[in-house]
Amino acid sequence: MLKITVGFLLGIIIGAIFGSSADVLSPFGDLFLRLLKMIVVPLIFLTLIVSVNNSSPKELGRIGGKIFPYYLISTGIAVGIGLVIAKLINPGLGLQMPKNTTMEVPEAPSIIDIILQIVPSNIIDSMAKGEILSIVFVALIIGFSISFIRHSNDPKMKEWGNLLLKFTEAGSEVTFRILNGILQYAPIGVLGITATSIGNQGMDTLQSLAKYVGASYLGVAIQMLIVFPLILFLFKVPIIKFFLNTREAIMTAFVTCSSLGTLPVTIKCALKAGISDRVANFTLPIGATVNMNGSAIHFGVGVVLAAEIVGYDLSVGAIIGIILTGTLAAVGTAGVPGAGLIGMSIVFTQAGLPIEIVGLTAGVNVITDMVFTMCNVTGDIVGAAIVDKNEKREIGHTGYLDKENRSTA
Ligand code: ASP
Repeated sequence: MLKITVGFLLGIIIGAIFGSSADVLSPFGDLFLRLLKMIVVPLIFLTLIVSVNNSSPKELGRIGGKIFPYYLISTGIAVGIGLVIAKLINPGLGLQMPKNTTMEVPEAPSIIDIILQIVPSNIIDSMAKGEILSIVFVALIIGFSISFIRHSNDPKMKEWGNLLLKFTEAGSEVTFRILNGILQYAPIGVLGITATSIGNQGMDTLQSLAKYVGASYLGVAIQMLIVFPLILFLFKVPIIKFFLNTREAIMTAFVTCSSLGTLPVTIKCALKAGISDRVANFTLPIGATVNMNGSAIHFGVGVVLAAEIVGYDLSVGAIIGIILTGTLAAVGTAGVPGAGLIGMSIVFTQAGLPIEIVGLTAGVNVITDMVFTMCNVTGDIVGAAIVDKNEKREIGHTGYLDKENRSTA
């Protein structure tokens, strides 16, 4: 962790001194991101199959029934925090409507489409595209099928089931070993990404949008330093220990601006924090895809910015509508860099605000995306931690990966 921090600080210094010439270091950052993306699909696929064999469909259904309300409520609160903080800071006062900035508004997919897309028409295609929800779906059905034949009365079936499970367990262990190797390279990757992002940040845009950036950072600070600790406290999860165990994931999210890219590190940290494998392996891939507290803050702050620029007074009804669409747009936001801009254009369209203003904020999006992604990932682990705590209280058992000899611990 110390090495990653040094890489980060050196990256800032190099980026600030050399400006866009720091681009020569971008391959080092790209390599880190590629390595993380390389391991994410096999890691969640194999670990989830193993975890499923450690639970029943009923248990996973119960975990899902707890995590989804948490995602929706915490996201709604985050949109509200973004709105309130921005209302206090007034990021749009004195700013003009941008000229010549265009943004395409993507069509919002219907709920039916979103649910249908979880079932892949081609497993390999979904894996190749890294469609996490489909991969989770396939891992669940394969996991349950293996568990089913392991408990069959036919000795041959039993043997095959156990063999398949052993094979998958070994594969899952291998992916964690590879991840540990990748993390040895993290300090250099972090240096490359940070130097390039800082070096390419236009200072003029940053100055004119300083209040918008400030409101975004303050909103995230409130979520990270007040809301999350409060939730952890209510569920009796030790707060300092939680943040110490998860800091590697928080830092990786901050630098990579990608919840999905960070996912392997998120899972590793969650297991290190003592969260049982069946909760971590099941909820974190879903969280990295649908739970976006930071992006939700982004939408709240963005709406106030736009409303102030065009002189539009937000009524109570409009605010309620924005919290609802903001929550849904956050669920639909992909865990990749810059995805929040697409979600924000959907919220603006629904609220009747000009989407050119989304284009205006794109100039500082690298700087804000860092904290939004950090908050997205932290929210995922907080959700896993409280559901795990609640599960342990109810049924008092943990998963197989909690064994002390795990390579990730
Ligand atoms: N970059 C964010 C993430 O990966 C999503 C966003 O742009 O809001 O979580």
